[in-house]
Amino acid sequence: MRHREGDSVRTAGLTIGAGCSLAQVKDILAGRVSELPEEKTQTYRALLKHLKRLAGQQIRNMASLGGHIMSRHCYSDLNPVLAVGNTALNLMSKEGTRQIPLDRDFLAGLASADLKPEEILESVYIPHSQRWEFVSAFRQAQCQQNALADVTAGMRVLFQEGTDTIEDLSLAYGGVGDATISAQKSCQQLLGRRWNEPMLDEACRLLLDEVSLPGGAPGGSVEFKRTLVVSFFFKFYLEVLQELKKPGKLLSVPLSPCLAQPICPPHPTPPCRVPKASGFHSLREAPHQPHSPGSSLLPFNS
Ligand SMILES: Cc1cc2nc3c(=O)[nH]c(=O)nc-3n(C[C@H](O)[C@H](O)[C@H](O)COP(=O)(O)OP(=O)(O)OC[C@H]3O[C@@H](n4cnc5c(N)ncnc54)[C@H](O)[C@@H]3O)c2cc1C
Repeated sequence: MRHREGDSVRTAGLTIGAGCSLAQVKDILAGRVSELPEEKTQTYRALLKHLKRLAGQQIRNMASLGGHIMSRHCYSDLNPVLAVGNTALNLMSKEGTRQIPLDRDFLAGLASADLKPEEILESVYIPHSQRWEFVSAFRQAQCQQNALADVTAGMRVLFQEGTDTIEDLSLAYGGVGDATISAQKSCQQLLGRRWNEPMLDEACRLLLDEVSLPGGAPGGSVEFKRTLVVSFFFKFYLEVLQELKKPGKLLSVPLSPCLAQPICPPHPTPPCRVPKASGFHSLREAPHQPHSPGSSLLPFNS
């Protein structure tokens, strides 16, 4: 069976066969995105964004989802998004079947979180996202296709219903170490915080602390990669802020000052203050240029 929907509403999601090519995965996800309400397809949309750019069409036709996940390349575009999306791996052996999470430990190749020698990956379960949950994918590469990413990331936030208070947060990065890494400590410390500028400043500080790049980080360019680590989060912050400001979203709670202001007001007033973390240019430098979230701050192509 190539793919099927989850069995119950509570565990609703999509199960895709490990043997599907990445091109097939793209088609399957595109189909679900067109059928399901937007709030349920956040993870699928984020994956689709990367599947349009990952390698080139020939590679996407040949590479399998299972092969991609099992390779656990440090530059993997999909694994960070799958990890933040609470993906589970359905394993199979002569002894039977079992499920393991595609999480930090699996991606680090820890024996306790890995396949046993006799097991194969049969399929991949990707849950639907839920209301008040936002998932995004980011990548920076030399060019749009046929180039490995310098840094790639998957980010997910879940808010307490009807508020901008963080209930759950997951941030995973590729290209910054030997494996896909998740910024677990930073995420943990941000739980319960509101989605505002003090949280953004704190998050950038925590991320720079936790996602330490050794001198020998893959591809070098340590300072550039550190800038991308916080730049991606800043872009995520703005994207989510924009979603929260959509009509009907945060009606039941008083808005924090930042949420109460338009994100991209007409010039010359600049939008929300740029975080203090290193590596950003001030928006004031280009007040007359219209911009999408983060576009005037970031050198990257995703
Ligand atoms: C030119 C090129 C450019 C690329 N660019 C990118 C890029 O930009 N971004 C990106 O993220 N990736 C990129 N990739 C990697 C690509 O996405 C795949 O991850 C990679 O090709 C491996 O997929 P595969 O199907 O060939 O795996 P395989 O080589 O078939 O398998 C890889 C490993 O997984 C094991 N395996 C496979 N299936 C299973 C299973 N069902 N159960 C258990 N073990 C299994 C195999 O035994 C093997 O050890 C690129 C690859 C190439 C060749």
